[in-house]
Amino acid sequence: MKALRLILNDQLSMTISCLNGIDKNSDIIMMCEVMEEASYVPHHPKKIAFLFSAMRHFAKDLEEKEYKVIYVKLDDPQNTGTLDSEVARVLKDHKLDLLILTEPGEWRLSEKYKLWQNTLTVPIQIHEDNRFLCSISEFQKWAQYKKPLRMEYFYREMRKKYSILMEQDGTPVGGKWNYDRENRKPPQKNMSFPKRISHKRDWISNEVIHLVHDRFEDNFGTLEPFYYAVTRNQALKEARHFMDKLLLFFGDYQDAMISGESFLYHSLLSSYLNVGLLLPIELCKMAEVTYLSGKAPLNCVEGFIRQILGWREFVRGIYWNFMPEYASMNYLNSSRSLPAFYWGKPTRMFCIEECVRQTKDHAYSHHIQRLMVTGNFALLAGINPVEVCEWYLAVYSDAYEWVELPNTLGMALFGDGGIMASKPYAASGKYIHRMSNFCENCRYDPNETLGEAACPFNSLYWDFIDRNEDKLRGNPRMNYAYGNWDRFKSDKKTSIRLQAADYLKQMAENIL
Ligand SMILES: Cc1cc2nc3c(=O)[nH]c(=O)nc-3n(C[C@H](O)[C@H](O)[C@H](O)COP(=O)(O)OP(=O)(O)OC[C@H]3O[C@@H](n4cnc5c(N)ncnc54)[C@H](O)[C@@H]3O)c2cc1C
Ligand code: SF4
Repeated sequence: MKALRLILNDQLSMTISCLNGIDKNSDIIMMCEVMEEASYVPHHPKKIAFLFSAMRHFAKDLEEKEYKVIYVKLDDPQNTGTLDSEVARVLKDHKLDLLILTEPGEWRLSEKYKLWQNTLTVPIQIHEDNRFLCSISEFQKWAQYKKPLRMEYFYREMRKKYSILMEQDGTPVGGKWNYDRENRKPPQKNMSFPKRISHKRDWISNEVIHLVHDRFEDNFGTLEPFYYAVTRNQALKEARHFMDKLLLFFGDYQDAMISGESFLYHSLLSSYLNVGLLLPIELCKMAEVTYLSGKAPLNCVEGFIRQILGWREFVRGIYWNFMPEYASMNYLNSSRSLPAFYWGKPTRMFCIEECVRQTKDHAYSHHIQRLMVTGNFALLAGINPVEVCEWYLAVYSDAYEWVELPNTLGMALFGDGGIMASKPYAASGKYIHRMSNFCENCRYDPNETLGEAACPFNSLYWDFIDRNEDKLRGNPRMNYAYGNWDRFKSDKKTSIRLQAADYLKQMAENIL
């Protein structure tokens, strides 16, 4: 039997399950760049260039290992533009008898695969994605008896399962499961950061950059300079650099934000992890070894491992557990349009302008910027989750729906009513003031709630608390916020509502 083995753009691992048992003489591996995938949201040009270049390098590596590979480039004349028609065309042209797939990361593709069972003329085998550390069925089994689902308990199970940072007697190394309390330091004056490594650009990347420049130049985002790793070796170099030079401060300043510093001590590994150039288990082990060799403290190493072994696997589990209904949840009935400043139009709010600028330049911004600046603003202003999710999916090079949706709709917008988070991550400008130096450059004052100079986050925060009272007051974790709101005199409450209404009007008119 001659099989076609399809590798998707985020399945760039030599150990991917659809290659298991491959016969190098008869089987064909197929990879393709299709316009349908490149344009279902207006992806950042750096994201497209990264993906196409990493795919082309991966195909070259496969050919060097003497696999038969069919690689369809975006501008190949026979490219029909959709995955369905490309797969059907190759199956027919090469008279293949079987299609072997690895389960996709996104719901819409799993629906496609179901359709193929009826529309394609050959049998189809779909294998589990063996790169994740918790399978979809294993998560569903765990989730069945847990209400509410909380990452912390899931994470402990995963630590035990993989024996990461565990003592022989089954207790966590250091005596605690979680060192998050030590990881919330604000930025210090005059902090310096190790230089990031860069990678030599070859003819493959140059060709892709020309293509992306020609075909996607209207998309939001800056293509050049392009410095992403595009091969496994380069991605491994990034991982080693992080372990050697950055992990030792990762935890302490995980939540800090600094104007002009996009990366701080963050790993920048999510894009490589999400396409398969790096594997989650190898990163957890590398971090553990870094701790055991005394090169990084426990709070930093545990914090990093928790993001990968805990959060990353947890959000994937949530996605598959609650899709497809999850995508249209809107617990707070948020319905305002996404303001133009998310797409780079001017705003007087320095924090938003800075995070959007970093996003535009790098197709990256770090977690707290995504959550507590752009995400928090969208939450407070009541922006429609569908529009916010589309933005996050488009602008970040690590964005795939399985990881973006629970983080945006669930964690940032509380659109799932508490499946992901026990309370909304709503915060006033005081949080941003404490954790960043953004407010120093802003025309607004984070200490003012009323008046022309008042930080918009402040009145919008109280307005959010007020207008969502029926949904949120019963949540014990919101007692503090409602206790404070209740102490305001009624004329102060009225002034806050008016101030928030004025800012929302300015937002709609693009003058905020
Ligand atoms: C609104 C919003 C949208 C997000 N969208 C995405 C997305 O599309 N793709 C994506 O990979 N991450 C997403 N995240 C999670 C997180 O912000 C990114 O993984 C992280 O910023 C990537 O940068 P880094 O590699 O430098 O991460 P680091 O801070 O160095 O963290 C290490 C690794 O942990 C993992 N990780 C950390 N937090 C999370 C999380 N909450 N969920 C899943 N993995 C996590 C990532 O793989 C990351 O590489 C989102 C978070 C928010 C709040
Ligand atoms: S004052 Fe408010 S709007 Fe300005 S940077 Fe600070 S938090 Fe952002």
